[in-house]
Amino acid sequence: MTDKRNGYSLADDLMPIIKGDVALPNFEDMPLSQAVNYAAAWGNVHAARVQFPGAKPYDRPRAIIALETGQYGTDLHGSGIALIEGGYPHGAKAVRFAICKHKKVEHAGADHRRGWYPGHCEICGLNMTYDSGD
Ligand SMILES: [Zn+2]
Repeated sequence: MTDKRNGYSLADDLMPIIKGDVALPNFEDMPLSQAVNYAAAWGNVHAARVQFPGAKPYDRPRAIIALETGQYGTDLHGSGIALIEGGYPHGAKAVRFAICKHKKVEHAGADHRRGWYPGHCEICGLNMTYDSGD
């Protein structure tokens, strides 16, 4: 995997997923109500066609994809949720997906009492520093 220290690229990493040119990576079902909440909160939503691994090339259901970002809303984490159209009798479904199943390595100097969580993903390099202090 290429180094994602500076975040994922919408054009290169995420558009192929949004357009259904590549299958949803590392996805798992999630509750629809929780997914709707994320989509509303994140705001970074895209009209999409999604491809499931092993599906026929023409079988790309319509979906709304919301992309997950870091604390400041600009750095894409290569992950998100998809609200996927459904028909009778099951209706819509929601999944979470992630290009990388991030594994955070914490940096020296972390101070949880002050809300300081510096770190990066040991797989893709993504900066996962989080500061909840004030
Ligand atoms: Zn990662």
